Order: sequence, then structure tokens, then C-alpha cells
Amino acid sequence: MRAGVDTQIANRSRLPFWAGVFVTIACLAILILSGWREWSAREAVLENAEIDMANLARSLTQHAEDSVELADATLLGLANRLESTGIESEALAGLQSFLNDRRTTLGRIRGLFVYDEIGEWVATTESVNLAGLNNSDRAYFQHHRDIDDRQTFLGPPLQSRSGGQWIITISRRFNHRDGRFAGVVAATIDVAYFAEFYRRFDIGPRGTVTLLNKDGILLARSVGDGSFVGRDLSTTRLIREQIPRASSGTYYFRSPLDGLQRLSFYKVSDRFPFVLLATQAEHDVLARWRQGVITRVAFVVGLALFIALVGIHLVRQLVARQRLAAAIAAKEADFRLLAEESSDLVTRIDFDERILYASPASARVLGWAPAQLVGTSALAGVNHEDRPRVEQTIEALKRGEMDEARMLYRIRHREKSEIWVETTMRATRNSDTGLINGFVALSRDMTQHKDLEAKLAVLAASDGLTGLGNRRCFDERLEQEWARARREGTPISLLMIDIDHFKMFNDQFGHQAGDSCLRTIASVLANQALRSADLAARYGGEEFALLLPNTDSDGCEQVGTRVLEALHEIQIEDGSVAAWRTTASIGGATIWPNAATATNHASLVEAADRALYAAKNGGRDRLMMAGKVIRWPGAKTA
Ligand code: GH3
Ligand code: MG
Ligand code: MG
Repeated sequence: MRAGVDTQIANRSRLPFWAGVFVTIACLAILILSGWREWSAREAVLENAEIDMANLARSLTQHAEDSVELADATLLGLANRLESTGIESEALAGLQSFLNDRRTTLGRIRGLFVYDEIGEWVATTESVNLAGLNNSDRAYFQHHRDIDDRQTFLGPPLQSRSGGQWIITISRRFNHRDGRFAGVVAATIDVAYFAEFYRRFDIGPRGTVTLLNKDGILLARSVGDGSFVGRDLSTTRLIREQIPRASSGTYYFRSPLDGLQRLSFYKVSDRFPFVLLATQAEHDVLARWRQGVITRVAFVVGLALFIALVGIHLVRQLVARQRLAAAIAAKEADFRLLAEESSDLVTRIDFDERILYASPASARVLGWAPAQLVGTSALAGVNHEDRPRVEQTIEALKRGEMDEARMLYRIRHREKSEIWVETTMRATRNSDTGLINGFVALSRDMTQHKDLEAKLAVLAASDGLTGLGNRRCFDERLEQEWARARREGTPISLLMIDIDHFKMFNDQFGHQAGDSCLRTIASVLANQALRSADLAARYGGEEFALLLPNTDSDGCEQVGTRVLEALHEIQIEDGSVAAWRTTASIGGATIWPNAATATNHASLVEAADRALYAAKNGGRDRLMMAGKVIRWPGAKTA
């Protein structure tokens, strides 16, 4: 049973662990789900920004291409004109006036320039003095001079010789009629034009649009004062790795110009060697999302924390309850052990005296197995004489007049006839209402004890030599019978019997014979005590008493006479004392003790004693009744 309790406790002790696991999983699930959701939202925000950047980059690439194309169309016209007219001074004058006319319709083109084969300025839309200006050192000039290619050339950004501002050059070669290099026509666009144009787009506080050429030289940037123009970015990952791989795409990087983490979309022009890069600071893109995420995450973390705290509290409660349950179970097991191993019978009885539990000792004490007793009445088998007393005690317990009672009563045993049990019974109360709800009883077999007690009582009341009642027994019975006679208004009689000359008998035959004689006389007296209420007792020495309740003086006299006769007869039968006639003197007295008379039981003894004294004086071997003299026929008169 103990092992069962232990495994139960072991099983239960896993419950808080699993509850803890459940709470942890719930909290983690909430946190993970919320984290995942927030991450998705972040991804969506970035994705939208990527789309925006892609659209912007595509349209601005188109714009740049259009700008270059516009310049290129003009350059193509100029180159064709120059190839057909040549650059003789006459033709140049016409050209210059053509350019002067174009000056107002240039639009985004800053200026148009014509250089001869050695780089001298021959015509321009700018209002400068051409004399002495030479562009043969410019890269685009050298490119056209050295490479016989009629394609458009997009040069690196330069600082204008005529205006001083940053410009982008678009140039073409034109030839002599024989195909030799004749010079270069160039158009310039102010970097500031692009920067200005790009600034019109709202791409966040720190968004940028940058125009690069394919070699990584920065041509224009929507922010800053232009100091970045001409910066060589050819070593960046974008130029080295990203662009060779794909001509357009999303690209995340840390800007070498301002150190910000940026989200961008780049597009390489299909028609011209430049790249457009539209970017936004990742921090700005995520600003709105971050603001929301802080409140949402704070709420979710708070929720998870709350659940965790409640969980911890519940788990603790669970642990505490389990400990309590285990302690109770262990205690219960101990008590059960106590009850079951006890040699006394332990019973639990409900308010209606039904047995709810009986310990195994019931088999030994009552002869019934516990299962046979459960459900039966606790009073079944109680001796009918003892039952009212037991019932009264139980009623008193039920009324709460006492908490505990001890009872001694007889009860039927299954095999033996009847046994004495001593039961200590205690009322139990409902722990909530405080009302008595039953009893716990502890019963012990007291039969042997009772037998011994009975034997002791007999011993205490009887005379060792003769087996008659002793003096104490006589006194008690006299008192009882006196009270009864007084109650019932009946007479009570007493015979006091004293052996005559017994001292002489002892002297003559010895004490042993004297004792034997006393026993014989005792048996004679016992035989004369005919009624159950009569008592023959040894009053002391060789003096006996015969108490005769409910006997009047005539009856008393008759019994006394019978005693005398019987004594006469024994002397014949007893051979060893044949020479001796055992006689006794008897004093009899009868009193009606009613409430009116002031007599007590001592006065009965006194009266009988006086009568005995009179009998002795009257010559012995006779009966003398108190209040009258009776002569024994044949006796000598003293
Ligand atoms: P009487 O009564 O006739 O006057 O003479 P008695 O000899 O009986 O006188 P008394 O009452 O004085 O003597 C009592 C004697 O009884 C004394 C004692 O020797 C004897 N006696 C008393 N008790 C016992 C006893 O238990 N055993 C024996 N053997 N003798 C006893
Ligand atoms: Mg005497
Ligand atoms: Mg005597």
C-alpha cells in the first residue's frame, strides 16, 4: 500500500514539470509568432521600398538616356554638317551663327563645342573667346583622336573650362573627306541639372539618386554640394561584382560616401555606359515600422511575461498542493498502518452507528472479518443488559456532552459465546461545519480481565477456611438487604451461631481437627441457606451468621431449629470426634426496618448477639430468639 502511494506521488510530481513546459511553450510560441509576424512586416516594408526604388531607377535611367540621346542627336547633325562642309573659316562662320541660333533652344544641354584635329576650339554655343583654348588634353578628345570609331562617347565628369562647373561630356568624332580625323563635336550637360532634377523626387529624408558611368566614376548625385562628383567608385562591390553579374537589381550596401546602410536599386543603361542608382536609408524605410513594432512587441512581451508569471504562480501552487497531498498521504498511510497493525480493534462509525471502517483486528477480537462488519450496526451483538447503557453513552457523545467515553460491555463473538470489551469512543467532527459526524472507537477484549476480576471478587468475599462468605461479605450483604427490606417493607432476620466450648475441642483434638470441624459446621450452615437471598457467613473464629432476608421471626426460628438439629446429626457421622458432641448456641433476631423506625442494620446484629449471649447463659446448645425465650427440648437449664 505504501508502494502504491509512493508511485502515485512520483507520477503526480511530473505534473508541475509538464505545466511548466506548457507555459514555456505557450510563451515562446507567442513570442516566436509575434517575432515572425514583425519580421514579415519588415520584409514587406523593404519589399515595397525596393519596388519604389526599382521604378524610380528605371524612369530616371530612361530620363538620363533621353538626355544623352537628345545631345547625341544634335551632335550627329553637327558631325554630318562638319563632314560635308569641312572646317574652313567660311564654313565655321556659318556654323558659329548656327550654334548661336541654337543657344536659346538647348534645354538641358549646357553647351555645344567643336574642336579641330589638334584640339583647338573652333566653334561653341558658349560666349567665350575661342583664341588660345585647347582641349587636346581631355580624355574624350584623345579617345576620338586615337580610336577611329564614330560612336558616341560619354566622358568622365569634368570641370568646365568655360564656366568652371561640373559637366558631363557627350562627344563624337568627325572626319575629313578622306577619312582622317578632323576633330570632335561635344555637348555638355551640367551635373547640376541632373542633381536638380533628381531632387524633385520625394525618396525619404536621406534618399539619394546617383548617376555613375560604367567605370564607377560618379557623374551626379541628388544630395550634397557636388563635392562627390568625379569620385572614383570603381573599387566598390557594386561596380566590381554586382553590375557584371546583372544589369539591374536590388542592392543593399553601406555607402562609402556617408556610411549609411542603404537599400537601393541600380540599373545599367542599355544604350549608354552609365548606371543609375536610387537608394534610401534602410533606417528611414523602417522608421514607421520600427515605431509600431516597439509598441506591439512591448505589448506581446508584456503579455508573455504576464502569462509566464501567472504560469509560475500556478506551477508553484501545484507544487505546494502536491507536497501537501503527499504529506497527507504519508500521514494517512502511517495512521492506517497504526490502525491495521494495532492489536485493538479500531472502528470508524458514522452518526447512525453504521460501521464505516474496521481494522483487521476485528477477526481476532470479534471473530468477524472487517468486510463483514462494514455497513452493519456497531451495536449489533451487544448484550441486551448492557445495551441501554452503551446507547445512553453514545447519545451523550452525539449531543456533545463529552468528547470521549469509556464503556465496558459484553458483545457476541462469532465463535465464543460472549466476550467483554472495553471501548474508548471519541466523537469526530466535520472539519468545515464543526458538527459531530461520527465516532472512532478503540475496542479491547477484556474477557480474561473480567474473569479474573470475578474470581478476585469471589476471593475477596469468601472465607478461606470454610468457603462461606466472610465478615466483609456479610457486612455488605447485611447493609444491602437492610436497605432493600426498608424499601420494600419486608422483615429481615439474622441467626448468630457460636460453637459451644470450642476452645476445649481444640485443646482436646488439636487445631487441625478444629478447622475440619469448622468446615463441617460451615457446610451444614450452607445447606440451611435455602433461599437464594440467604447468606451463610463466617462471622469470626467459631462464630457464624445466617442472614435471612424477607423472613419473619417464625421463619427465623424454624431455620434456627433446623440448624440445631442438623448439628446434632453431624456429631454421629464424624468418627474422629465421636467422643465429642458438637453443639452450638444460636441467637436469632428479626426486625422490620421501615422508614418510621430509627433502627439500623447494626441493631439487628446487636439483637442477635444479645440473644446468643442469652442462649449461652441459658445453658448452651439452644436457640434464643431476641424478645422471647425458646427452650430446646431436652436441654439442661443453666
Ligand atoms: P463458649 O462459646 O461455649 O463459651 O466456649 P468457647 O470455648 O467456645 O469460648 P470462646 O468463644 O472464648 O473460645 C473460642 C475458641 O474457638 C478459641 C479458639 O481456640 C477457637 N477457635 C477460634 N477460631 C478457630 C479456628 O479458626 N480454628 C480452630 N481450630 N479453633 C478456633
Ligand atoms: Mg466464641
Ligand atoms: Mg464458643
